[in-house]
Amino acid sequence: MAFEGLAERLQGTIQKIKGKGKVSEADVKEMMREVRFALIEADVNLKVVKEFVKKVSERAVGQDVMQSLTPGQQVVKIVKDELTELMGGEQSKIEFSTKQPTVIMMVGLQGAGKTTTTGKLASQLRKKNNRKPLLVAADVYRPAAIQQLETIGKQLSLPVFSKGTDISPVEISRQAIEYAKQEHLDTVIIDTAGRLHVDENLMQELKDIRALKEPDEIFLVVDAMTGQDAVNVAQNFNEAIGITGVVLTKLDGDTRGGAALSIRSVTQKPIKFVGMGEKMDALEPFHPERMASRILGMGDMLSLIEKAQSNIDEAKAKEMEEKFRTSSFTFDDFLDQLTQVKQMGPLDEILKMLPGANKIKGLENAKVDESQMGRVEAIIRSMTKQEKTSPEIINANRRKRIARGSGTTIQDVNRLLKQFEDMKKMMKQMSGMNQKGKKKMSMP
Ligand code: GDP
Repeated sequence: MAFEGLAERLQGTIQKIKGKGKVSEADVKEMMREVRFALIEADVNLKVVKEFVKKVSERAVGQDVMQSLTPGQQVVKIVKDELTELMGGEQSKIEFSTKQPTVIMMVGLQGAGKTTTTGKLASQLRKKNNRKPLLVAADVYRPAAIQQLETIGKQLSLPVFSKGTDISPVEISRQAIEYAKQEHLDTVIIDTAGRLHVDENLMQELKDIRALKEPDEIFLVVDAMTGQDAVNVAQNFNEAIGITGVVLTKLDGDTRGGAALSIRSVTQKPIKFVGMGEKMDALEPFHPERMASRILGMGDMLSLIEKAQSNIDEAKAKEMEEKFRTSSFTFDDFLDQLTQVKQMGPLDEILKMLPGANKIKGLENAKVDESQMGRVEAIIRSMTKQEKTSPEIINANRRKRIARGSGTTIQDVNRLLKQFEDMKKMMKQMSGMNQKGKKKMSMP
C-alpha cells in the first residue's frame, strides 16, 4: 500500500502524545523529531519537511493548546490540519470553459501514465459531468501511443481524433479542436507527446499547442513511484509551460508518498486526480483531507461511502432487504450481491479505508482470496434456473454436474450450498428478531 511506512511511523508517534493530559514543549520537540524522520524516510522534499515541522511546532506549543483540556488530541489535530494543507487544503475541481470546447492538455514524461490517464479522465468526465469528450492522439513520435489511445477509445466507445504520425502535433490539435466544434463535442483532451527527459523541443511544441486555444487545464501526469523525480519534473514543466494541476499515477503501488506530499508545496499547483490502477475506472479525485486522515490512521469513511454509493443501486438494496426478510433470497440474488461488492474494487484496499484498520493485526498482509469469489461465481453460473431458486433439489448427481461445469470440486459445491443454507437460516432469525423488536418498541 502507498504511504505504508509513513503511516506507520506517524501513527506510532501521534499515539504517544494523543492521550497525554499535559504536553510540554519537550514532548512536542520529541514528537517533531520523529515526524521529521518519518517525512524524510517517505522521500518528502527536505525544504517541505523543514517548513512543515516549523509550522506544526509553532502551533503545537501555543498557549491555547498547552492549556486546553486535551492537549494531546489538539496536537494530533494540528498535525492533521497541516498535513491536509500541505497536500493542497480543499479538493480542487476541473475548470470547464464557457466557450466551447473546453481544452485539456495532458503532458508528462514517457511511461508516467499519460495515455492511460487521458482515457480514464474522459470516461470520468462523461460519467460524472455529462461531458462529450474527444480524445486527441498528438503523440506522433511514438506510433504505439496512437494505437494505444485508439484502443482505449474503442474500449470506452469514445471518439479518438488521430492523423497518424506525418502531421505535426500542433496541426493535429488545431484540426481536432475544429472537429470538436463541428461535432458538438464539448471537451477536447489532448494526449501530447512524452519524452524520456524534459527538453527544449518538447516544451516548445507544448507551447505551440497551448497557443492554439488557451487550454482550460494543463494536467501534468507524473508517476508517484518516482518520488522526488516526480517533484522535479513537475517543477520543470510548471516553469516552462505553466501547468494547472497534477495527476499522480500509480498510487496503488507501494510508493512512499514523497511526491504526493511535496508537489503542491514546491509547485503551488494542486494534485487534482490520483491513478489507482491500470483499469479505466481507476482514477479518483484527490481529497487532501481524506488522504491525511488515511495516513494518520483515522480511516477514510467518506471515500468508502462514495465508492459504495456509486456502485450500489438503492432500489436493488431495498429489494434485497425485502428478500432477506421473507427468506426468498436465491442464488441469483447472491450472485448479484457478489458482483456489486466486486465492483467496489479489490477487497483488501476497501478494508484499509476503515478507521483503525491499520491496527488490526495481520491486515497489512491480508489478501482477500478473490479467486475464492471467482469459484463461487462459477459454481452459481453452472446451476440451472431451477437449481438457483430451489437449491434443495440439488442432489448428488446435480452436484457432480455443477462441479464439472464450473471446474471446481464436489467439496466446493457442497461448501457453498451449506453456506447458503446457513445464511438463509441466519437471515430468517435476524428478520424474526427485527419483527419482535418492532413489536416491543410499539408497546406502551
Ligand atoms: P505514457 O507513456 O505516459 O502515455 O504512459 P501509459 O499511459 O502508456 O502508461 C504506462 C504504464 O503505466 C501502463 O502499463 C499503464 O497501464 C500503467 N499505469 C498508468 N496509470 C497507472 C496507475 O494509476 N496505476 C498502475 N498500477 N499502473 C498505471
